[in-house]
Amino acid sequence: MAQAKRSKSTVGVFYIDLDDFKKVNDTLGHETGDRLLVQVAQRLAKLVRECDTVGRLGGDEFILLINSMQNHDTARTIATQIIETLEKPVDLDGRSLLISGSIGIACYPQDADKVTDLMRKADLAMYNAKHKGGSCFAFYTKQLNDVLERRFLVEEQLRNALCDNQLYLVYQPKIDLRTGKLKGFEALLRWQNPRLGSVCPSEFIPLAEQMGIIINIGYFVVEQAFALLQVLSDQGHHDISMAINLSPRQFRDEQLHDKLFSLVKQYDIKPQQVEFEITEGLLIDDFPGVKEKLNKLHDFGISLAMDDFGTGYSSLSYLRHYPFDTLKIDQEFIQGITNDKADYELVNAAISMAHGLGLALVAEGVETNEQKNLLQQLGCDIGQGYLFAKPMQANQVTEYVAGSQAC
Ligand code: C2E
Ligand code: CA
Ligand code: CA
Repeated sequence: MAQAKRSKSTVGVFYIDLDDFKKVNDTLGHETGDRLLVQVAQRLAKLVRECDTVGRLGGDEFILLINSMQNHDTARTIATQIIETLEKPVDLDGRSLLISGSIGIACYPQDADKVTDLMRKADLAMYNAKHKGGSCFAFYTKQLNDVLERRFLVEEQLRNALCDNQLYLVYQPKIDLRTGKLKGFEALLRWQNPRLGSVCPSEFIPLAEQMGIIINIGYFVVEQAFALLQVLSDQGHHDISMAINLSPRQFRDEQLHDKLFSLVKQYDIKPQQVEFEITEGLLIDDFPGVKEKLNKLHDFGISLAMDDFGTGYSSLSYLRHYPFDTLKIDQEFIQGITNDKADYELVNAAISMAHGLGLALVAEGVETNEQKNLLQQLGCDIGQGYLFAKPMQANQVTEYVAGSQAC
């Protein structure tokens, strides 16, 4: 850096991390892993000029320091060469191994003027390259820094959110579009954090999934929702249903069924009052036993809804292969039905198809009377959205139920 400062040139820091190296160690042993690292080091050393530096930081992490780097295009060329050289098969013990690497790039003096900062920023960029799926490179940018800093902060705060009582549920009514009567509620998770304020579920739930804490959070959601059903039952409302969102990760928990069944008993609930909303992410992964698990829940009497239908890769065959009772069309399509012909046709087709398969149809995100009227005409069964009610706190639910039964 001192040299670059004097000659007013740029130093490129390339932070390289091999993808899935742990697998090599786990399956072929550490000794093979070590020899692979030696070969990688030799290949990297061959790539650079005499005046550049190649180093190993530890584990499967390497670093390249490129002096007098002209610009980002030069960096791109070097990064592409690194990726290509890593992707050439490595021959070890008569086997041909395929590896790849993720590369993060930060530059002095543009990105940082301290060694630790420069390293951290190259590392952040590498993390981003990994996040994109590996075998690629990414530059450090201020925007990336902000996104990742936010992410780390949210992750850090989320770790204690459950035990610090920062999580709670709100409930959004679902309305029978034929009779206008209340059918039930969907439980939606909320997080109020002293440092971050209110954090959106679409931001923290994916993180909770990755961190694995969605399992415990999920049981908290189920218990809260069941407790509310019990209160409603005690007041004589036995037919109100409760929809609960379950993440794919929760299905990997071997205790899921036992715990759910015992909670149903503990809160004295009819399984028929409970509906689980799942997204197709669960079915795409198709890990062993998913179908059995869904069947077991269904046999117990719990309903299953496919959420966010129409987004992602929704495959119609899922509806046939798994025991769904309900299809929820994503709000993206509902928003367009009154003015976008394609959305209208899609919703129309989804409704006839769902009915053909014996499924009930829920339209979510209904915001206007025009949307509601059109959905009624098309024969949609249930509506949910701000037009009827926004999600409300538990203590408002009993009042809402009493009001809705009166009219
Ligand atoms: P989702 O299951 O599709 O939930 C519907 C979302 O649409 C909710 O957002 C709800 O507040 C919002 N919404 C309802 N009516 C309207 C409307 O008329 N207009 C508009 N613009 N939006 C409306 P929310 O509460 O932010 O939840 C976002 C997502 O987070 C949910 O999408 C669900 O996938 C996930 N989520 C929420 N709670 C839980 C939970 O307890 N467990 C799991 N695994 N996921 C949850
Ligand atoms: Ca949902
Ligand atoms: Ca949805």
